Amino acid sequence: MGEEGVKMKRAVVLLSGGLDSATTAYMARAEGFQLYALTFLYEQRHDREVESAKRIADELGVEEHKLLTIPLEEIGHSSLFKNRGKIPENTEIGKKIPSTYVPARNIILLSFAVSYAESIDAEVVFIGANAVDYSGYPDCRPEFYEAFQKACDLGTKRGVEGRPVILRRPLIELSKAEIISKAKELQVPLRYTWSCYKGEDRACGTCESCRLRLKGFAEAGIEDPIEYTTNR
Ligand SMILES: [Zn+2]
Repeated sequence: MGEEGVKMKRAVVLLSGGLDSATTAYMARAEGFQLYALTFLYEQRHDREVESAKRIADELGVEEHKLLTIPLEEIGHSSLFKNRGKIPENTEIGKKIPSTYVPARNIILLSFAVSYAESIDAEVVFIGANAVDYSGYPDCRPEFYEAFQKACDLGTKRGVEGRPVILRRPLIELSKAEIISKAKELQVPLRYTWSCYKGEDRACGTCESCRLRLKGFAEAGIEDPIEYTTNR
């Protein structure tokens, strides 16, 4: 919260409830932005991450937290949607784009975020995309964000007035271990973050998202505070 009379810079933060988006939100806060968090419900199997997003938004003390429902499952296919096949386990990460890919998800989510940002006069949109320890989703790569920035420059009122909404993806080139170390430094409540694609009571430890998370904690030498089903 800013002092009265001092206008703080505003930022929209995409907050899924996962480790990366939570860390990104804390980085944005550390830079002094007033935060407007945006969380999407799209029939994702792991909708318990939405509860995580609410807790993290609370801890952060965001100015506003919007929960938007988008019926992506009505038009698209992904094993991440409820009742749509199995979540792949113990796959070779990065070999091919896995079935958990949600068609054009970040194009859609960022479009909402930029619209929200322009409406509330926020200068920046933060997204926790990462292109190092990731599953090879095309909409997580730097090339995509450069192209999307161009779309913001050309397709918004702010853009044509010469003050486009700026997309920030501060984790894009960090390893998962580096992200976790950063999270620790910024006191992100890691116990509230949720990564597992399955969304059961405890994280599975075998889906790509769990394995990337566990690998990151192991490499960072930090204990993961959440519980897993599998013994390790
Ligand atoms: Zn899992």
